[in-house]
Amino acid sequence: MTAHLAFPRPPKASKHCRHYSYKLPITLPDSGPHCAAGHDMSAPGAAMPCMPEPRGACCDRAEYTDQERAAWRAAVEASQSRLAAALRALPSPIPLRTSGTVKCPNCGGALRYARWRRGAEVGCDTDGCCGARFSIAADADWPVFAQAKEEDRS
Ligand SMILES: [Zn+2]
Repeated sequence: MTAHLAFPRPPKASKHCRHYSYKLPITLPDSGPHCAAGHDMSAPGAAMPCMPEPRGACCDRAEYTDQERAAWRAAVEASQSRLAAALRALPSPIPLRTSGTVKCPNCGGALRYARWRRGAEVGCDTDGCCGARFSIAADADWPVFAQAKEEDRS
């Protein structure tokens, strides 16, 4: 019984033109700015009309709607909450040079983690659930959560 939830991502509704995207990594030949409406983005500055504060005009400029922007913001916040919950589910601290798996608190799937001297990674197997890499000071305990301080007013 592995009922994995789906975590669909709405369009990344930024303040750029909705046709604009930027392909990474820059080492690939087709990386860089792209226009879904077909405008040539290869010249320096060609993407300036696509920016949140456009310089130059484009006849195909199209904005995301407020609803799309709200849906994107909500998805980002939900994603951050899933990651925070995932971190709280990890052993604390994770011993150096170890890895393991715990049950994901968000979806019940496999939440994998690894810790090395200057970093750590956590990621859920479920598509779109949560995951991140962290740079951590060498030999620092991680993750460590501040205990909710009981006010001691005697
Ligand atoms: Zn998960």
